[in-house]
Amino acid sequence: MNGKRAFRIKVEDCDSESCGFRCQETCPHGVFLAVPRHRNRRRHAAHPRYRIVPRFRGLCDGCGECVAACPRGGIRIST
Ligand code: SF4
Ligand code: SF4
Repeated sequence: MNGKRAFRIKVEDCDSESCGFRCQETCPHGVFLAVPRHRNRRRHAAHPRYRIVPRFRGLCDGCGECVAACPRGGIRIST
């Protein structure tokens, strides 16, 4: 343990296509990653759809900018 506080980030009700990945653009620490919703990426390559996951949550400092940026109120952060 390095003493850094860990944050739990929950992403629900995401519509990344309509919002333009605002949380990903906003986060100063690059916590979010957009991953294809479909396992068969080749089949859906022409119309990829993505979901946002807090892949690098260990980098989060709890600033709350992503929460404010999400138009769907879909991000929650707790300790
Ligand atoms: S709270 Fe701040 S650092 Fe953490 S994921 Fe959101 S924007 Fe990034
Ligand atoms: S800001 Fe909200 S709706 Fe947009 S990609 Fe992030 S979680 Fe999804």
